[in-house]
Amino acid sequence: MIISGFSCRGFGAAVPANDEPKNKKDNAHKRYARLERYYEGEHDILNRDKRKVLANNKLVCNHARYISDTAVGSLTGAQRETAMQYKNAGRSLVGDGSAHDYFVHEMGHHIQWEAFDAKMNNAVGSRMSQYAGGISGYAAASKSEYFAESFAAFEKGELDKLDPDFVAFLRGNTLDKSAESGIIKARQLAQKKKFNYRDFDEVIDAKSVDDLKVFAADKMGVSHISGIQKLKNGKQAQELLSMVEELSEKHGKRFTRISLLDYGDYKTAAETVDNELRLNVQYLNRPGALKAILDEWEDSGYIPKGCNANDYVAKHEYYHLLTQDMIDEPHSKIETLVKRAVNDGCEIISQNGRYDCHEFVADLLSAKTLTKSQKKLKDSIMKILETRQ
Ligand SMILES: [Zn+2]
Repeated sequence: MIISGFSCRGFGAAVPANDEPKNKKDNAHKRYARLERYYEGEHDILNRDKRKVLANNKLVCNHARYISDTAVGSLTGAQRETAMQYKNAGRSLVGDGSAHDYFVHEMGHHIQWEAFDAKMNNAVGSRMSQYAGGISGYAAASKSEYFAESFAAFEKGELDKLDPDFVAFLRGNTLDKSAESGIIKARQLAQKKKFNYRDFDEVIDAKSVDDLKVFAADKMGVSHISGIQKLKNGKQAQELLSMVEELSEKHGKRFTRISLLDYGDYKTAAETVDNELRLNVQYLNRPGALKAILDEWEDSGYIPKGCNANDYVAKHEYYHLLTQDMIDEPHSKIETLVKRAVNDGCEIISQNGRYDCHEFVADLLSAKTLTKSQKKLKDSIMKILETRQ
């Protein structure tokens, strides 16, 4: 969802390959920082001080650069990449070296400029020293690498490592790209109460996990669920996926990937990223946890009234899948309908949907009860979807 909200023009170069060993990272940083300085011609001799009576010549012969450039120049392809990585200070990356991960990292650079306004840029950048070290070595390299690596970690669901404001900003910024996003406030409000998934015990049920694998493969055509090794109980997942399957049959469009993720202390229950359905494995393993967070969200108006049930989660995500491309189109018909309806007094469906067309539509299509004008809007959207199938 986040990625699809931004245009993809003008990427920079690729980033270096592979992780470097994580031990002695600090020493390595000092060492490489010094080498880098030498490479740039900023040799220690420039800081030398002598007593006034002695001549204090500070002459730099920059052999460091000469030797490095000659050496690197003689390398090809992967060798050169590795050498450049070392030149860039022994920094490990969030990504695993795959093309996809390079892309996500570069996307992060792009998003820093496309989505973050100056104020937010500065605010997040000013806390870099607090978070960069926990993300990756490369994140500590510069402010822009910090943004890119934060984004890479965000896309991997490693939310507990990130600056909460960075996360809140990305989450609140899918449709309304202006800086003042009320959805951040709504989300913080929804997270204020004391829900903690750890208060609910895990219930182990290996057979239900096996059943789930069979269901996903046979019925949904998804032969591998990523993160399935973390799943201890397949019952709630089965409930969710059954509803997703029912809607897939009805509308024709399907998720092509299913992933189970640990969101740490972030309360995400599920999300749709392109054609991938992501579910919070901690909630799935704990009967009652998902219901408890849904109760809390319903109570605070974050989700529509009466939607504190598992099938709502499945519907909400499925309707993201079904509508996201059409909402992202320029001059989107659906977006126009929603804006017009709200201008004409159609009630906001939920706090989650207040400033975000994607969330508004997903909630509108999965809500149990609708007002008259909401019903009318839903019918017009369904009509567009039907003619599009
Ligand atoms: Zn959503």
